[in-house]
Amino acid sequence: MLNIVIFGPPGAGKGTQSTKIIEKYNLYHISTGDLFRSHIKNDTPLGKRVKSYTENGLLVPDEVTIAMLKEVLEDNKAQVNGFIFDGFPRTVTQAEVLDKFMAENGTAIHAVVALDVSEDELKARIEKRKAIENRADDDQVKLQKRINEYFNKTIHVLPYYHSKGRLIKIDGVGEVDTIFGAITTAIDNASIGK
Ligand code: AMP
Repeated sequence: MLNIVIFGPPGAGKGTQSTKIIEKYNLYHISTGDLFRSHIKNDTPLGKRVKSYTENGLLVPDEVTIAMLKEVLEDNKAQVNGFIFDGFPRTVTQAEVLDKFMAENGTAIHAVVALDVSEDELKARIEKRKAIENRADDDQVKLQKRINEYFNKTIHVLPYYHSKGRLIKIDGVGEVDTIFGAITTAIDNASIGK
């Protein structure tokens, strides 16, 4: 198996790069944001529970997010070549649970690709995306909350993976294909012998 985390603040390009990584490495995409949006759209009990968090740019509580993620992992682990995690983990607790799950299944997170993008660049990109996708959580106030959640809670995931030697920082500003080239080189180096 090859398991990758794509990491970065809102608007860093995780979705765009994930699509390209999945195509190249044949991985199963897990975006917790997409999963939550789908539950909300279908008005499931989980959707009802998480709606106010996602709409306000706040992190969904760990126990809810982790339970949903584990179910998807259990349902798919036997059939796939590996996973790419997009928007997960967002807290150190989530990262620890993910490592434990991988170890229990005889595998690991092989690389954490962190896209480096400044706050100003992020705001400009999200404004642009808002016009195209019309996402309910992307207005300015909520955007600031999402960015705050990233810098208050999610950023601590970086030293966690750094201390385990799995963090790869990639400059997230530039041409999509140039960034993708840097990512694939990093993944290929990290996955040698895995
Ligand atoms: P995203 O599309 O990845 O930015 O996620 C949209 C929203 O879903 C976030 O603003 C959070 O409210 C929620 N969410 C997604 N992933 C997580 C996670 N790993 N932990 C907690 N909340 C999450």
